[in-house]
Amino acid sequence: MKLNDFPADLQPHLVPAPSGRMVYQCLECGREYGITELLYTCPACRGLFLLVDKNEARLKERPGAFWRRLFDHRRMLTLPALKGIFLYYELIAPVIPLEDIIYLGEGHTPEVQACPALAEQVGRPFAFKNDGQNPSASFKDRGMAAALSYLNFLVQSENLGRVLAVCASTGDTSAAAALYAAYLGDKVASAVLLPHGKVTPQQLAQPLGAGARVLELPGVFDDCMKVVEALADHYQVALLNSKNSWRIRGQESYAFEIAQAHDYELTGLAVVVPIGNAGNITAILQGFLRLHDLGIIDTLPRVLGVQSSHADPVFRYFREPKGRRVFTPVAVRPSVAQAAMIGNPVSMPRVIRLAEEYTRRAGEESVAVVQVSEQEIMDSMLLANRHGHIACTQGGESLAGFRAAIQAGLLGPNETGILDATAHHLKFIGFQQMYFDNTFPPEFEVVPKPEYQNFPQLLTPTTDDPKEKTADLARQIAALLGLTPKGA
Ligand SMILES: *Cc1c(COP(=O)(O)O)cnc(C)c1O
Ligand SMILES: [Zn+2]
Repeated sequence: MKLNDFPADLQPHLVPAPSGRMVYQCLECGREYGITELLYTCPACRGLFLLVDKNEARLKERPGAFWRRLFDHRRMLTLPALKGIFLYYELIAPVIPLEDIIYLGEGHTPEVQACPALAEQVGRPFAFKNDGQNPSASFKDRGMAAALSYLNFLVQSENLGRVLAVCASTGDTSAAAALYAAYLGDKVASAVLLPHGKVTPQQLAQPLGAGARVLELPGVFDDCMKVVEALADHYQVALLNSKNSWRIRGQESYAFEIAQAHDYELTGLAVVVPIGNAGNITAILQGFLRLHDLGIIDTLPRVLGVQSSHADPVFRYFREPKGRRVFTPVAVRPSVAQAAMIGNPVSMPRVIRLAEEYTRRAGEESVAVVQVSEQEIMDSMLLANRHGHIACTQGGESLAGFRAAIQAGLLGPNETGILDATAHHLKFIGFQQMYFDNTFPPEFEVVPKPEYQNFPQLLTPTTDDPKEKTADLARQIAALLGLTPKGA
């Protein structure tokens, strides 16, 4: 729709210009730093940052109804920069000029309702929000769109020359980082550090295809993370890990989209998300809190985190009663939810603080973390996908967590779920194959259920006569499927 065709009072606001004053704010000591430096942790105390807009008060001068109308109308604009997560420009990074924003088709992923049979079996209506339908096939694109748009802006405004962006990853972060860096061409080179043998072949193929330097290290993700931190401490690099607070900003768009998709009325919703490094749940909590601050939503939905019993430090923390909670990292065991297989989540300090604020406003039960088994994750993934979904193992983890919460009586009688299917099914297809073939190594503790197994069946013609082959195969198939002959 053309700008002139929008309501006159909205026209001056539809195409935004930088108006924020963003700073890095240390979570531990409160010190603030300008955003023109490549900073990831507080130089004074090594605390984590949150990005804050010192001008955010200007947004409060307008009522929530104004922002709802603006965002709803902006969806009809045809400007590429505002088509993705920057639809919510004022809430994401209102310091980046529109011409520096990179849009590769991220965000605005569909919510797909469970069909009646699936909802019945699970015990509640729910929907998957398919974040596997992002460009690199996981939700990580949301954060990368913000982080690389900012880097693009910084490189030009500060004349930085060519920047090297590095990250450690359980697979999807590096796929996203490499994709967005490749789009920027000469301005940004990317290097990704992966735990050798702990990412799927599909996830490994993605950064290779995008031309990133791919370095494999022994150990698990937590080991790679330490090396990246050592690099960031001693060399001039742009860090694209969860410590990068621009990524959290971009990932808040997930919460904004849920609000918009439900006409900003979130009563009776439980938002279910798998937890690994805890960046996603951080962004979701913060996103809803900020919408609430601005009067864009009146009700905070319940946020339910899910962890596998093979990588559950966040679950263990929240299991303790308030006042007795102490965070302790755990050693992870092999998990099919490999992208969430993290024992020492980087964003834990953010989660602790945000969960306190969230429960202060919305009640003790409004943030909860449940634990599920590897078996439940696999079975839930297969159950979902047999009903028309495209959930990956982490999406299966969301469904397993939703079922666990129903069983534990955590949800109200009319509460419905929005489950994060964080990546595309095909990225983690090897785990499905292990289930079908019953080849899981024992430490996974997964035993296939025959009703979920499925195998291709090879047919061979019983004749060599080329004229007869087709009819012969058709007869075999008709017999196998019990087809009724026409006119019989
Ligand atoms: C990264 C990732 C997660 C975990 O998200 P965190 O922000 O690290 O908690 C879950 N699922 C998929 C597919 C991921 O790529
Ligand atoms: Zn500090």
